[in-house]
This record gives sequence, C-alpha cells and structure tokens, in this order.
Amino acid sequence: MRCGILTVSDRCSSGETEDESGENLENLLKSSTLKPKEVVRHCVSDDKPAIQDALRYFCDELKLELVLTTGGTGFSPRDVTPEATRPMLEKECPGLVIAMLSKSLNVTPLAMLSRPVAGIRNNTLIINFPGSKKASQECLLFVIPSLPHAMDLLSGFPVNHHHPVQLGASHEEHTDLPHSFGCQHHHPSDRKGKASQTSSRKHFTASSHTDESRIAWRPRHSSYPLTPVSQAMSVILANAQTLQTIASTNLHDALGFVLNGDVFSCDPFPPFRASIKDGYAVIASDGVGERDVIAPITAGEQSDVVVKSGSVTCITTGAAVPEGADAVVQVEDTELVESSEDGRVETKVRICRVPTTGQDIRPVGFDISVGEQILAAGDKLGPSELGLLATVGITEVKVYKKPVVAVLSTGDELVSPGGRLSGSQIYDSNRTILLSLLKQEGFPAIDFGISPDTRSDLVDKLTDAMKQADILVTSGGVSMGEKDLLKTVLIEDLSAHVHFGRVFMKPGKPTTFATATIEGKQKLIFSLPGNPVSANVTFSMFVLPALRKVSGYVNPHLTTIKAKLGFDCFLDPRPEYQRVILKYESDNDLPTAMSTGSQCSSRMLSMRNANALLTLPPQTDEITQLARGTIVDAMVIGHI
Ligand code: AMP
Ligand code: MG
Repeated sequence: MRCGILTVSDRCSSGETEDESGENLENLLKSSTLKPKEVVRHCVSDDKPAIQDALRYFCDELKLELVLTTGGTGFSPRDVTPEATRPMLEKECPGLVIAMLSKSLNVTPLAMLSRPVAGIRNNTLIINFPGSKKASQECLLFVIPSLPHAMDLLSGFPVNHHHPVQLGASHEEHTDLPHSFGCQHHHPSDRKGKASQTSSRKHFTASSHTDESRIAWRPRHSSYPLTPVSQAMSVILANAQTLQTIASTNLHDALGFVLNGDVFSCDPFPPFRASIKDGYAVIASDGVGERDVIAPITAGEQSDVVVKSGSVTCITTGAAVPEGADAVVQVEDTELVESSEDGRVETKVRICRVPTTGQDIRPVGFDISVGEQILAAGDKLGPSELGLLATVGITEVKVYKKPVVAVLSTGDELVSPGGRLSGSQIYDSNRTILLSLLKQEGFPAIDFGISPDTRSDLVDKLTDAMKQADILVTSGGVSMGEKDLLKTVLIEDLSAHVHFGRVFMKPGKPTTFATATIEGKQKLIFSLPGNPVSANVTFSMFVLPALRKVSGYVNPHLTTIKAKLGFDCFLDPRPEYQRVILKYESDNDLPTAMSTGSQCSSRMLSMRNANALLTLPPQTDEITQLARGTIVDAMVIGHI
C-alpha cells in the first residue's frame, strides 16, 4: 500500500518551522503493521487551490491508496483544509470522522473545534487530521485499526483482518503507545526533518512538474505560498552568513571591503610639530619688530636649525617647526625689510602682528594620537577610511572576503546581444543588468552565459557555478510554464532546500531562494524571475542586501527615504515597487517621485534613470489609489 501525507501549514511551507507532524506521521505509518511500500510527503500553505492541487496529484496521478492531511482543520480564518478536501471527494466517510472526534473528545473537549472530513476519491481514502503533532498522532491511532480493511474494500479485494493494526513494528514494542505520544524512540529517526522534507518534496516535484507530454495535467496553481517580502528578507538574511575566510588585503585592493577588526594607530599624526601656515617660525615673546631671517625650512626637510631671540626662520605649510620657535606668523602679517641683491634670499623681515604662543602650529599627535582607534570592525573601507589607514602608514588590513557571484540566464529563447536572432528569439538583457549591478556594487562575478531550458544543461551549469561561486543568481525559469524547470532542478538534482518559491510582491512574484551544499560549503541560490524589470528589482531588494551581509555590512539594507508622489498612483492587489525618478524641487524639503511610465515588468524603459523603488501598500476595499502629493517610502537604488 502507498500513502501520502500532506502537511497544510503556512509556516511549514515557508520554511519558518519544521514539519514535525508530517514527519511524525510518516514515521508512524512506516513502523505500523500497515507496512506501506512508500510514503510520499508534501507541504503546502493554507491555500485552497494549493491543497486541491496536491490532493489531485496524490490521488489522480500517483494513485496513492491513503492520503492523510495534517493541519488547517480548526477555526482560524486561514483554516480551509476541510473546505478544500470536501469538493474533491466522491463519497464521504463520516464514520471515520465520528470515530476520530468521539475518541478525541475523551482526550480533550477542545476536539469539538476540529472540523475534519474523510472520504474517497477514485480508489484513494483521504482523511483530514488536525495540525498538531500530538493530535494528529492520536487521530492516526484512532483510525488505524480500520484502515487495512478499508483499503482492501477499496481495492476490490476484501480480506479478513484478524489482527488489529498497530502503530509500531511489533505489538510488544508499543504496549505503552495509545495515549503516550513520545513514540519516536521506537523508530530512531534515521532522517532528520529537513532531509525528509526534501526527499518527499523531491518526489512531488519530480512528477508534478509539468511533463511536456502531459501539459494538460500540470498543476494550475503554484504549490509555493506567497511569502511576504519582509519574511523573504528575514529568511535570506538568516542564511547569509559572512564568509569564514578573511583576506588580508593590500590597501589599494581594499576599497569596498568591510573590516573585521578594529584598527589602532601606532604613530602620532603629525609625527612632529607642523606649521599650519606659510610664514615665519618665531619666538612669540619677541613680539613685533625687525628680525634676522636665519634659514628657510620647507615641508619634508630635515633641519637642525635652532631659532634664537631676534631671529626667525622662513617656513612652509606642513614643515617641521624648528627648535626654539614656539609660534608661526603667516606671511600676510609680515613685511620684507632686506634681501639679497638678486631677491632670492630674504635676510630681514618685520613681524607686524603680536604672535601668541603655539599660534599656527599643530603639536605632535594633534590629528591622531598614538594608540588611538582610527577604524572599527564593521567599518566599510571607502576612500576616506583608506586615506586614514594611509595617514598612519597601515597597508594591510583584515577584511571579510567578498562573495563570488555566478550569473546565469536561462531560456531557450535567449541569444547574447550581438548574436543573430531567429524565430521568436530575443536578446538576453538580464545578464548585462545583473553583471553591471554587481560591478557597480564591487562584487566579483563570473558570467555563466545562457542555459537552455533543459534539465541536463541547467544541472551542469548550476553544478559548475556552485563549485566556482559562493552565490548563484539565475534569471528565468521559475514560473508556471512547462519550461520553468529551475525549482525542480534545484530540489531534485541539486538537493537544494527551497526556502521560498514565490513572494507577495509586484514585480517579482516567482522569486525563489534556495540553499544547497556542495563540497561541504553552503551556497545561496537566488532564482530571479525572467522579466528584466523583475530580475532587476528583485536583485536590488533581495540579492544586494544578502551580498552585503555576507561581506560583513552591519546594515545591509537599501536606504529608504520619504518622497512625495508626483502623480496619482493606482494600487495593485500586491505590494508594488514602482520605479520612479526622485528629484529635489526648490520649494520642497522631500524629493518628488516622478513615474517612469508603464510599470509592465517586461518594459525596461520603466527602469530608465530610475533612482528609487516606491514601496506601495497593496490595495484594500477602502483604498485603491494614492493621490499626488501623498508621502510614501522610497528605496534608493541610484544617485538622486
Ligand atoms: P520566464 O521567467 O523564464 O518565464 O521568463 C519570463 C519572461 O522574461 C519571458 O518573456 C522571457 O522571454 C523573458 N526573459 C527571461 N530571461 C530573460 C533574459 N535573460 N533577458 C531578457 N528577457 C528574458
Ligand atoms: Mg524561461
């Protein structure tokens, strides 16, 4: 007998929580005397079409004999499992429901709030269980004695069952079972939750992905829940850990890197008393009057001249103030009294303004003292920070390694710009966009070209990319078309864990994020939608913060500012990230957001000169548009 377990849970399907109930039911079934040949598992969100797609697949395609659902049978607004199941049934089986509920009521009166249905579709028996591990285990326990006979009747070969079916491999092992729920020690779980989830999702996707010979049978709704943007961001950042390797980089190669340790100055700056002005090094107490000029001292020069009362030295900005002198008088406050005949050398000058002690001299360590912290771990090395290091003569610093990013376009229709187009081919613009964004942000990239929409090509390219890069960014192949193979390849061929496969946003709904391990190293994989605007926007919103976090940025997020709408803006049912040009107008303290025109996700002109993405809320029954002048959030993506 072959069984399916469908976990219905928003949180499990988004990867937020482990699917403990599904795993537990799988273990219980396998160790029961039902001895299923196969247990297929899948997890969907509390979404009616997604549940129905999964049930249809389990019953009509895999032709499983028993399908247990867990979750979504309660009273909360998202609980729709019974409503999704009922229309799928050809015959209801109230007896099973009555048995489950009456026995559950002996355990807790709260069982009154459970609304399961059970019934038959073709030759499959479907039973709804509650979502909690404990309650779903109890329910399985209550119905399991009837299952073998039910299966036999369904298959048309009734057999008498003399032995009640047990959970667990043998009766002796499970004498303590009925109301104890700690039975996992009976089947020392050989597979951890994640592995199990992967393997069963594997199975599902393998066959549920549109087989080109059976396009009509493809799932018509994505089984991936629409993950909110904020949740997608948290999942990404939780997986984006700084790279272990820390490079000690030469100053000139360190631009844009983030320091991984504090930096202290070993020397004072300036290292000597330095003149702030071009003028004369004097003894302040000599006051005003005529002085002999004993020697000129220029910056960089080593001089052992000593200034005595009645004399001064000529000095330039940045030169070391000579011994004996305690002030500098700028040239503007002096007059020439006497010079050599050829005018090359000053021999006598008049000090016209009374100097004060220390005037126009930077003492030793005036700008930076010895041992002073000049940079801190987490500081990003920009021109000024590198200048600081140079000031104190530090040339080697410890920084976080930047991730190497592989960029791959996918699509049979794509041709590199400059190539010859035929049929319905188009030029690959995404690679140019993504590689340029990476270059602009200072991340090393490897161009993996274009992969056709074939599983073997995708597997080869992605495997190669995983070996060479830390982070993979692909575009295309993640929506609902029969050529959209990325998710299948990630899960089945690369054993990747897909954290989310859709995001509640516009543009960018099919954005997919996965992690996979190769040669002991975890790689982040961003599979962005194919439409160029979507790829561009989702790179800025998701990939860039991840790259920054991996590189050690303390704040990896895009800068968000307030802007005033320069146009009436219609809201979409999804949160929308409209491309705009922000401009400061003279009479306005906030920038005005000008639209870039039609926001169609294939229209790259909507990104032209765009320097911000407006963060627009989804429409509600009450609010369907925002009037010009409304103040909204804008994520800065370019120079304003
Ligand atoms: P897909 O996500 O693969 O279904 O692609 C969605 C749309 O984006 C299709 O019209 C593709 O032709 C287009 N597209 C996909 N990849 C690229 C690319 N690299 N450059 C330009 N357009 C693309
Ligand atoms: Mg495609």
